[in-house]
Amino acid sequence: MRKNLISIFIIFISCTFLHAQKPKTPSSSEIYQSIQKLNFLGSVLYVAAHPDDENTRLISYMSNHVKARTGYLSLTRGDGGQNLIGPELRELLGVIRTQELLAARRIDGGEQFFTRANDFGYSKDPEETLSMWDKNEVLSDVVLAIRQFKPDIIINRFDHRTPGTTHGHHTSSALLSLEAFDLANDKSAFSDLLKAASVWQPKRLFYNTSWWRYGSREAFDKIDKSNMISVDVGTYYPLKGLSNNEVAALASSQHLCQGFGRLSQRGSQEEYIELLKGDPLTDDDNIFAGIDTSWNRVKGGKAIGDILYEVEKSFNFNNPSQHIPQLLEAFKMLQNIENTHWKTQKSKELKAIIEMCAGLYLEVSADTNWATPNEKINVDIEVLNRSNLSINLVSLNNSGDLNISKNIALKNNVKYNFKEVIKIDKDESPTTPYWLSEKGTLGMYKVNDSKLIGLPETPRFYNIDFNLLINNVPLTITKPIVHRYSKPEKGELYKPFEVIPEASAKITEKVIILDNDKQRDIAVVVKAGRDNLEGSVEVCHPNDWSVYPKNQKVNIKHKGEEQTLVFTVIPPKNESEGYMSPIVTINDNLYTKELIEIDYDHIPFQTVLLPSESKIVRLDIKKKGENIGYIQGAGDVVPESLQQIGYNVLTIKPEDINAEMLSRFDAIVFGIRAYNVLDDIQFKQQQLFDFVKNGGNMIVQYNTSRGIKVNHLAPYNLKLSRDRVTNENAEVRFLNPEHPILNYPNKITQKDFEGWTQERGLYFPDDWANEFTPILSMNDKNESPKDGSLLVAKYGKGHYIYTGLSFFREFPEGVSGAYRLFANMLSIGKEDLKLEAKLND
Ligand SMILES: [Zn+2]
Repeated sequence: MRKNLISIFIIFISCTFLHAQKPKTPSSSEIYQSIQKLNFLGSVLYVAAHPDDENTRLISYMSNHVKARTGYLSLTRGDGGQNLIGPELRELLGVIRTQELLAARRIDGGEQFFTRANDFGYSKDPEETLSMWDKNEVLSDVVLAIRQFKPDIIINRFDHRTPGTTHGHHTSSALLSLEAFDLANDKSAFSDLLKAASVWQPKRLFYNTSWWRYGSREAFDKIDKSNMISVDVGTYYPLKGLSNNEVAALASSQHLCQGFGRLSQRGSQEEYIELLKGDPLTDDDNIFAGIDTSWNRVKGGKAIGDILYEVEKSFNFNNPSQHIPQLLEAFKMLQNIENTHWKTQKSKELKAIIEMCAGLYLEVSADTNWATPNEKINVDIEVLNRSNLSINLVSLNNSGDLNISKNIALKNNVKYNFKEVIKIDKDESPTTPYWLSEKGTLGMYKVNDSKLIGLPETPRFYNIDFNLLINNVPLTITKPIVHRYSKPEKGELYKPFEVIPEASAKITEKVIILDNDKQRDIAVVVKAGRDNLEGSVEVCHPNDWSVYPKNQKVNIKHKGEEQTLVFTVIPPKNESEGYMSPIVTINDNLYTKELIEIDYDHIPFQTVLLPSESKIVRLDIKKKGENIGYIQGAGDVVPESLQQIGYNVLTIKPEDINAEMLSRFDAIVFGIRAYNVLDDIQFKQQQLFDFVKNGGNMIVQYNTSRGIKVNHLAPYNLKLSRDRVTNENAEVRFLNPEHPILNYPNKITQKDFEGWTQERGLYFPDDWANEFTPILSMNDKNESPKDGSLLVAKYGKGHYIYTGLSFFREFPEGVSGAYRLFANMLSIGKEDLKLEAKLND
């Protein structure tokens, strides 16, 4: 029973925190829609693999039209993708995408869940995916999600029958959902989860199909659809003034880091779901056919329904508070039903409706958005009853030592303000995404506290309980502490309240590449979480490197301020790599983490604590040529990386390109997907080819095969394909071992292809003119060799190089072989001409 209480507590808190941005103050029509949902006792769980996979049209339709409780289980948080709005990658990108999903759900009315699976990057088939993930753990998380959410209906986004036609994560999500559909109701399966949730059998499992699965609309029109249900997801909601597909577009437009900002759509639109398992369909196209979704489905529910259906039927839009006595009556009856699942879920909904109907405004705002353990913070508590109801504020308390008796009768529309001081517990752990607290594996997050598994974010423990008596019925409403402030140019703003450590530190550069044995200065930035921080800092480093001074004093007057300390790093004579970490000592406490802030307008402010470390690489690298012009595409850190190894890199805009300015460079390098995103580059292509003809080098990194903005990517025929090698350890075979690009100025060996991350490369050309020399061959398991990853062609006096190798992923990870190979690409043709003549013999 106790365990049960804990899990209820967590679910409740996590849901209230969804509103930690500016609190929503609902209109009558929103209250009415909540009552409609309260009176529908059925649920739908949508299952896919990534943020953005979810069909928001269907989620919104289920939530807003059908009125079902609707959840989206995304197996991963989307860490493996790219970020179009900022520098965050990997786990930090996963934090942004988690918040973007929550933002989308706030719009379409769904709820959000995850598993512990990590989005480790592209995977071609489910077999590979499930060998990277711990299949049993992810399956366990899907079973847990089903047992906790108890959906009547599950809808898979992807088809489990077509492995290899889409991302392996996608097919895996469908396979795991299918398996979990049966296991969720099997007491002997995952019995360790039974203390968290009882077994559950969903009634039907669907696949959210589409015409594109069948090749064309015509082909789809002809198929037998007796096993399918179609719904019109363009339905119009007068209460919202929006069509369902408009709501869906607003929701999916929250995926801004993926560039999903989009136009809204209106009008009738069919969506199809195909029955895979469970009870057969009936004729009326009702996915809930045969499932009682009324209050009668719950033992003791009929009498509650009698009250609540009447409220819905006679709802007073001008004065919703009129219904509170009935709502309270239903609330009291609800507390006596046996079924804990329905009791918990509907109590939560009903309590929120009572709060809304009373026009209650309850807020706890701290004078800061973060504090450290042991710190005292001032909070401003606002209580406002905007109804004629008899509401008493009995007391305020939190889980700590705050317990204040008030006994105030709240008069209609009279604001009550209280100032209180809250002390942060001395042992309080800092607020950070729970799935990043411990180091996991490439495929899985590590979550030690099993109660957190599945939750979208870390529950907040600094909350205030408002203990109220409404018409003499005791009701406790819990609010998280927030920080309310304003900015002249933005208006009123909110931030969640967080606990941070008293000190954090980082080395400003994440990868430090030294191409010789000269010493280099590095900057360590220490941030104070409290006033008057005094201590010392040292830098941990591998044995063959040295850093001096050994340690330095740190002294920071004000909370939030930073101090920069410069240390000198001396690399070893020979190639070597490792990690450096700053350690801050305050009294006897050691701090080894970096505090990262994520601040975008469309999601709540986030702080993340990660181990503070920077990779250091002493590279044995030679290079020719000095000046590089870089044309940014979709965004990468290649320019900064090339600067690290001593090149002069200037970023140039397509419109500024002319023959004279090109002549200043030894090489022009194109950023990833430049030919997909730069409209004007088509007008400059000939000048770029002329630059090569005159002796320059042009290096083009990967573009996607669809949507190229030029007719001729290269001076010779070159056709892109979707060939990719996703296994970062795939064998690399040298097709032309004597070619200068593998020999000069750096001798490239197998060792240079060790330690690559995420993948070898993508969108390799599969057809090219004879002028191109393919250099490398590689392939994923059970696939034919792919020879287009690095193609070199002489054109006039210079060289044109096309490469789908993932330098943009390897450089930020300090992969030395990638740097050495790229240096050769930049140096080609700049070598002793005699050597080249000899090789051409
Ligand atoms: Zn996906």
